[in-house]
Amino acid sequence: MFRLHEKEDTIVALATPQGVGAIAVVRLSGKDAIRICNRIFKGKNLENQESHTIHFGTIRDGEKIIDEVLVSLFIAPKSFTKENAVEISTHGSSYIVNQVIKLLIREGARPAKPGEFTQRAFLNGQFDLAQAEAVADLIHSDSEASHQAALNQMRGGFSGEISKLRAELIHFASMIELELDFTEEDVEFASRDDLQILVEKLLREVELLIGSFDLGNVIKNGVPTVIAGKPNAGKSTLLNALLNEEKAIVSDIAGTTRDFIEDEINIGGVIFRFIDTAGLRETTDTIEAIGVSRTQEKMKTASLILYLFDLGDTDMVEINRDINKLENLGVPFLKVANKIDKANQQFINELKSSHPDTIFISAGQKENLDDLKSKILELVNLDKFKTGNTIVTNIRHYDSLVKTRTSLLDVLNGIDIAITNDFLAMDIRRSLHFLGEITGEITTDDLLANIFSKFCIGK
Ligand code: GDP
Repeated sequence: MFRLHEKEDTIVALATPQGVGAIAVVRLSGKDAIRICNRIFKGKNLENQESHTIHFGTIRDGEKIIDEVLVSLFIAPKSFTKENAVEISTHGSSYIVNQVIKLLIREGARPAKPGEFTQRAFLNGQFDLAQAEAVADLIHSDSEASHQAALNQMRGGFSGEISKLRAELIHFASMIELELDFTEEDVEFASRDDLQILVEKLLREVELLIGSFDLGNVIKNGVPTVIAGKPNAGKSTLLNALLNEEKAIVSDIAGTTRDFIEDEINIGGVIFRFIDTAGLRETTDTIEAIGVSRTQEKMKTASLILYLFDLGDTDMVEINRDINKLENLGVPFLKVANKIDKANQQFINELKSSHPDTIFISAGQKENLDDLKSKILELVNLDKFKTGNTIVTNIRHYDSLVKTRTSLLDVLNGIDIAITNDFLAMDIRRSLHFLGEITGEITTDDLLANIFSKFCIGK
């Protein structure tokens, strides 16, 4: 973690990618940034120039010219970091870049740590923590949905909502703390009824945000899905049938350049990621039946299970037993009966009456796959996909929200059993603490170090 005095340092790093390019940009930030650059720059005196101006000149090591460059000046607080900042555009050779950085270090700068520019921007109030994290997400977003979620977060959508919740609660916390100063007098500045109404409202909003994480995760990673069933049930045939339709759709779109991803299927705009499909397609008989612990472990990591059985090779006792196991697993699942093309009608009728929610398909003949797809979509609950709502995509935020919920429930419980004010105030403060963790109003050095170390150097 950064020591306090380190924040006073002037830091330097290459801001553009390593390697040869037309130009490279070396970035400096800190109170001496302009002075340090001026020492190796020959051209105008940079220390007398206005902010947001660009200057042509040479970088020199003594009399030796290293390169002809353009220097952009940003005077505090009008820069990304809100400190004095300089960007030196050099020719894009790694030799030149290394020489320039070496000279700047000799003149008093030090190499920046990963994410240190963004961290300074955060510490100097350029944006809050959730927005800083969104910068990283934005750089890494690779689909329209993930890009949209990151952009929304960077522009403060999520932060605004959290801050609003906090502000309402802070008011109550201070009122109750004020009451603590008047314990003798038995006054009540904060109405417990109003507090209860507010906390219940907060809980509903926090629940919504927590609930949105499933969707956020889906946007980022796809719905993890498992096709489970006995050997020869038709698992790989089904997967191939779904994949082939997808392939057909993908290649039907003229001029499409999207790569086809082997185990991802887009159903109604939602990506489903099939787990362990390599094994599925390579072999038919090594896939274990439900009940084998390794398979169960895999199924627990899924958000959706397609329980597939062969109508001609499974009896009701077996089906009931498997369904019972799946219910105990607690992962949403669909009952999918395969091979209707050669099934016995009496057995189908029997199944329809004991398990009316069964979906009957023929993977081999590609029959009823549309019905299966719409049932899959129903199960992942499309209501949550309504746009415009705030979506939590970051596991750290999710974690803080879950802790906030627990503390808010403590507050409610406290009101209910009329605990003393000091305890009530403590529970409210704890809720405020966890909400504040999200936007960075509350931070610890470890937390910051952890977040910013994931950035690259120069960012
Ligand atoms: P897996 O072991 O569960 O992956 O099963 P497979 O997909 O390898 O299928 C086992 C056998 O059942 C293969 O010979 C498939 O051709 C056949 N099969 C799969 N689906 C159907 C179907 O809908 N109807 C019929 N008649 N045969 C099917």
